[in-house]
Parts: sequence; C-alpha cells; structure tokens
Amino acid sequence: MATIESATEKGLQARIVDALVHRIGKDAQAALPHDWLAATIYALRDDIIERWMISSKAAHAAGAKRVYYLSLEFLIGRLLRDALSNLGVSEEVRAALAEHGVDLDEIEEIEPDAALGNGGLGRLAACFMESLATLDIPAYGYGIRYVNGMFRQRIDDGWQVELPENWLAHGNPWEFERRESAYRIGFGGEVIGDIDGRIEWRPAEQVIATAVDTPIVGWRGKRVNTLRLWNAFPVDPIRLDAFNAGDHAGALAEQVRAESLVRVLYPADSTAAGQELRLRQEYFFSAASIQDILRRHMQYHGDIRTLPDKVAIQLNDTHPAVSVAELMRLLMDDHGLELPDAWTITRKTFGYTNHTLLPEALESWPLPLFERMLPRHMQIIYAINAMVLREARLSKKLDESAISAISLIDEGGERRVRMANLAFAGAHSVNGVAALHTELMKQTVFADFHRLYPERINNKTNGVTPRRWLLECNPGLTDLIREAIGDRFMDDAEELVDLAAFATDGAFAERVGAIKRANKEALANHLRVHMGIRLDPAAMFDVQIKRIHEYKRQLLNLIETVALYDQIRSHPERDWMPRVKIFGGKAAPSYHNAKLIIKLANDIARRVNSDPSVGGLLKVVFVPNYNVSLAEKIIPAADLSEQISTAGMEASGTGNMKFALNGALTIGTLDGANIEIKDRVGDDNIVIFGLTADEVAEKRANGYNPREVIEGSRELQQAVSAIASGVFSPDDPGRYADLIGGLYDHDWFMVAADFESYSHAQRAVDQRWSDPSQWQASAIRNIANVGWFSSDRTIAEYAKDIWGVL
Ligand SMILES: *Cc1c(COP(=O)(O)O)cnc(C)c1O
Repeated sequence: MATIESATEKGLQARIVDALVHRIGKDAQAALPHDWLAATIYALRDDIIERWMISSKAAHAAGAKRVYYLSLEFLIGRLLRDALSNLGVSEEVRAALAEHGVDLDEIEEIEPDAALGNGGLGRLAACFMESLATLDIPAYGYGIRYVNGMFRQRIDDGWQVELPENWLAHGNPWEFERRESAYRIGFGGEVIGDIDGRIEWRPAEQVIATAVDTPIVGWRGKRVNTLRLWNAFPVDPIRLDAFNAGDHAGALAEQVRAESLVRVLYPADSTAAGQELRLRQEYFFSAASIQDILRRHMQYHGDIRTLPDKVAIQLNDTHPAVSVAELMRLLMDDHGLELPDAWTITRKTFGYTNHTLLPEALESWPLPLFERMLPRHMQIIYAINAMVLREARLSKKLDESAISAISLIDEGGERRVRMANLAFAGAHSVNGVAALHTELMKQTVFADFHRLYPERINNKTNGVTPRRWLLECNPGLTDLIREAIGDRFMDDAEELVDLAAFATDGAFAERVGAIKRANKEALANHLRVHMGIRLDPAAMFDVQIKRIHEYKRQLLNLIETVALYDQIRSHPERDWMPRVKIFGGKAAPSYHNAKLIIKLANDIARRVNSDPSVGGLLKVVFVPNYNVSLAEKIIPAADLSEQISTAGMEASGTGNMKFALNGALTIGTLDGANIEIKDRVGDDNIVIFGLTADEVAEKRANGYNPREVIEGSRELQQAVSAIASGVFSPDDPGRYADLIGGLYDHDWFMVAADFESYSHAQRAVDQRWSDPSQWQASAIRNIANVGWFSSDRTIAEYAKDIWGVL
C-alpha cells in the first residue's frame, strides 16, 4: 500500500517513463499513444500487484471461504479508468502524463474494449466482480479468454455486418499468464470400470487449459480479486511426422482444434458443428475451473469433505451447468466419495442464477452428442436423475407429468439433456434477478421443481456498479452531488437519497440540467466525428440501447417513430418537442428479424433525417457497435430511457438502472426491474404504459387478434402500412412485408396491443419535457432514489443468503 501513498507525482511519472523504456523499449520522444497507454498500465500494475498479493495472503491466512463466479461472459470493457478511479490516482496520473504532453483522456480512449460478452448477463458478471472486490470478499471470476470475443458490428448500407473483434492486437498489459496453472481437459473416448468398482474415463482427445489472470480492483483499492480466463493449447502443438511428410495443415490440426475453443463467444449453433463447439467450450471452461477450485481447496484445507464450508460456486445461467456433473465426477472418481455423499457436497456448493424464461434460451443438448463428448458425465447425469426422480416420487408432491418435467432428460421426441434442470437439481439456491422474474420462475419454468423444493428459489434483484456507471462515466454530475451532499454516497450509493431534498431547488436543478447539456454536447460531438451526423443538444435525447431482440421491442419504438414523423408532417402547427431517437445494439448473427430491425432503423433514419419538412423536430440515429465504452458516453447524455419490453419477458434489465442513476426518466412497461425502479422513484417520476405480465399471459391464452387492433387504430395502421409498403425501402419495397405480416398474424410480442398506450405515454413525455423545471425535479428524484440498485447491495445479498460469506 505504501507505494501508492508515497507515489508523488514525480514518482508515478518516473515509473511510467521507466515502463516505457524498459518494458516497451521506447523513449518519450518516440512513444506513440499506444505505448503511453501500455506504459501507464504497467506502472499502475505494480501498485495493483502488491494489493493483489496482500488480498490473497489475507484470505489464505484467515482460512476464508472463497466465492467462484462461473460465467461464459465477462463484459468488462476498458479497465484503465476504472483502476485509476478505484485507486484514487486519476489526477496524479493525468498530471504525470501531461508533463510529457500526453492527454490521459486520449489514451483512455484508445484502450480496446474487452468485449468478452454479449449483453446484460456479461455486464452483470463484470459489475459483480467489481463489487466483490469492493466488499472485500475473496472471489474469482472464471471464464474464457476469447481471442476475438463478441463480433464487432459495422453498419454497411444500413445492414449489420459482423467483423472479428481484434481486442488483443496490441497485446494486453493487464494480463498475467499462469502457464503453471494448467489442466488437461478430456473429450470423448470411453469409460472403463475395473473389478474393484473403480471407474476410469479414457478420453479420446485432450486439450490443455492454461490460466490468464486479470486483476480486478475494488473501490478505494481495498481489495484486488482475480478474473481467471482460460486459454486452450494442444497437448502436441505439431505432429512432426505429418509435417515432414508434407501434410502441413494436418500436422497443425490439433492446434487449430484447441484454438477454436477460445476463438469467439457464441459461435453460430445453427449447424451441428457449431452446436458441438458450443458444448465443448462450456465443458472446457467448467472443467478447468472446477479442477482449479479443487486444487486450491485441497492445497489450503486438505479435506475434500469441507468443500462447501470453504467454497461457493455461482453458475451464471446454465452455460456452466455441466460443472455440476464435473464436480460429481471428480468427487467420486478422483476423491473416492460415494454417490450420495458426492451429491450432498455438490448441492451445498453450487448456486444457480437463472436469467431468462425464454424457452429458446433454456439450453439442452441432444443426448447422443452429449454422450459422445462426455460419456462419464452422461452416466453421472443418469445417476443424479435417478436420485432426483426417486426423491420426487417419495415426496408424493408431483404427478407423473410433473416428474417428467423435472427430469434431467427430455424424453419427448429426440432425447435431450436439460441443463437448467441439471443446474436446479445440483444447487442449494436458485435465484431470479428481479422480483417479477423470480415469481414467474416459480409459476412457469420451475413450477414443478418449486413444488418439490419450495425453499430453493429466491430473488436477488440485479444491480450495477456505481463506480463505473456514475463516478467514472459522469464526473460532472458526481462533482455536483459531492458538493450538495458530501462524499458518503461514494461508499454507499443509498446515501444518494439525500439528494431528494434538492429536487425543488431551482438553482440546483439548473445545474443538473447544465451538466446533462454538457454530456449531450460531448455525445453529439462524438457522433459528429464518428458518424458525420449533426444533432441538436437542445433536443430530447430519447435512447434505446441494448441487444436487438423482438422481446425488447425496438420495433415498437420504430413504429412509434414513424407515427410521430407522420404526425409532425400532418400537423406542423402543433407544439412538437424536438427529439433525437438514438438506437444501438447488436443482433445475433443468425437472428433474421433482429437484423431486419437494424436495417429498418437505418432506413427510417435516412428518410427522416433528410426530410426538410420535419425541420429539426425529429432525428433518428443508429449508433454502430454498441459496447460498454459507448454506453459510458451515451447514458450520461440521455434524457429518456426506453425500457419497453413485452411484460414478463425481460428478466431484470440493468440498462434501466444505469440510465436512472444518470438522471434519465424511464418510459417503460411493468417488466423486470422497471417495477422496482418505479416503486423507488415514485409513480410521478417514471412513465409506465402497456399490458402487465398477467395481461400478456391472459391475451396469449385466450386468443388475441392483432389485425383487429391494427385496423382499429388509424395512427398504427398508417405507420405499419407505410413500413410494409416500402415507403422507407424504395430500393426493395417488399423488404419489411414479412416483418409487418408477423404483427398482423400473431404478434407474439404484443407490439400492436401496446402501441396506443405507448404512443399516449410518449405524448405525456412531451408534456413533461415542455416544463424543464418539472423535468429536472424528476431527474433528480431518479438519481436520489436508485442507489439501492448498486451491485454492492446485490452482492451483499448473495453473500449473506447464498454463499454464507459476510
Ligand atoms: C448494461 C449493458 C447491457 C444491458 O442492457 P439492458 O438494457 O439491460 O439489456 C448491455 N450491453 C452493455 C454494453 C451494457 O453496458
């Protein structure tokens, strides 16, 4: 710790130059911005390493229980600003760099975004890692070090194009390779039982998993935890005989096969090969992580039976669910435990977080694929299943159809292994991520499991780290809040509540408004430079940024945009409030309608933005390649936050929390955490519309006629027929016929059903916007009342209720 406190400006400056010379091999004259970035990270790293070692030694000395967070995604974004801010050395480093004419903001801006995730689930894992360190909980994150991560999105002529994300092109100075932490991971082969009843799995194929560690610094540098990501290597990098015989590609096949494991997140699973790769990835990182956890446990504690006292493993969704079978395998085959004992230990060790009720997201694997790749695990899953089903029958709580619903094997049609059921059965805690979502879990996907194990399901409403999502992304607002209520909120976000007293203070509200305005100018400037578009920062910035998915209903927003465009043109005399509609988000590469929705947003943007008859009243922007760094720029500049999913379908949302924390008002449905945000900010400071989850379910069950709804609303009908008939796609008039046809036919996502309510809500938003002091008062009440959505609160709940730490 002493190094930081004693690091004078000169000391840090000297260390940065030292890193530049000795680690990068350049002097200050020759250094390029990337070299300064790397040198700054190296200099900072030395301080972090010391704290890192102190943290792990302290945990070891205390014999502390450790938390392991297994996740296929960690959407951590850039790390430099986060580390500087959490260590409290931002201004020192800024001054040190300035001595060499280097601007800290500029080098922060060239740090690549670690896009090792897709959306909310991956960002949650990143916020959780930061909060675990902040709360001083010894924890490891485990995942995969994807060389290309999630794809980079380019928009070509309005269409999404997927490009490889080359985030490691300049190396990664944050990483520590741990070649000594290496494990063999097997696939395929056969299972041999000997006469003593010992069982041996002889895999046909093996790869080596090696650890790459990234330090995660908690707030005020209290603790540094480890994000451990697995890299894959072949056992034999090259077959020399084949190479010398001229088969150069064949000689390297094993290398290519290993590398493909860690190449990209979510390889398309539309082909059998893609499906197989996905399951291989899941097993690869689960097996490496469980082996590493057991190795550490045995090294520190020496007794496998104390595992649940010293180890809590949280499964972030079902992607790592095969870990349940892997732990069982190691307990029985390597540590010699009997099945029932192994099962007791396993269940006490795991917790499982469910993130979605969407049927297509509940993973299951064709049984032949699973059995071929993991024959021993398949045996173990059968054995677990027998125990679970026996327990269910003995309980007399379930009838036969309920028993087949909880089975780990889906027997209907092609047999499949159900990963959610494996995770549920293998965990002592199963949690949802917002109150409504948890209730729906009990009523729908896990209704039968819930009857059998009524204590198991619990709620942990998501949160976001206020360091990244307020202090770092919105320094202007942070300074103003400190001036008003002091610094306590920086250690406990719920202290923000003191700000509520300022909601009616006109002078204060004006200053909040001025900061928002400055953030909007900065965003407008960024988009002018990067997209060549000019936006008026005086207009309302109305933002929907998130993965593109039909349930998130970007289409509802776009149809309303078209309706508004019509209205403005038909009634130019009315008092319209100027708006900028900002969209951003990636579509899964094989998700046809989502990609079409991106094209539609761009088609609408082109038409509306070049139509002089709307004047400056409406602009539409689709910002390419939405990621964490863009979110950090867009959210502080947003006036209106679009959280408009079909009720019952967004498990929680975390974007909604980030916007409210930065003073945007929400327009949203009663879905996910929107409900809890509404409860906290109050009905007058949020705009709620649309069907409730119960009403959606009722409509789906009792038949709903979207055609009738569309034909009953002139505004909606005009908007959808304009889209369907090619008004926005004159180059291909039929482009949207099927997309809009789907609305008439079934409209599963209730776009038509909610349109009128949404459109009214938008005009109510206009009304509020026309009174700036009322708007600002609401913005302040949002900031003041959403401190509860800090991931520190969420993690404290996991720690107490699930992990038994704290
Ligand atoms: C917060 C965040 C998300 C999640 O947004 P939702 O609106 O909750 O879906 C997705 N991507 C990024 C980059 C984020 O920062």
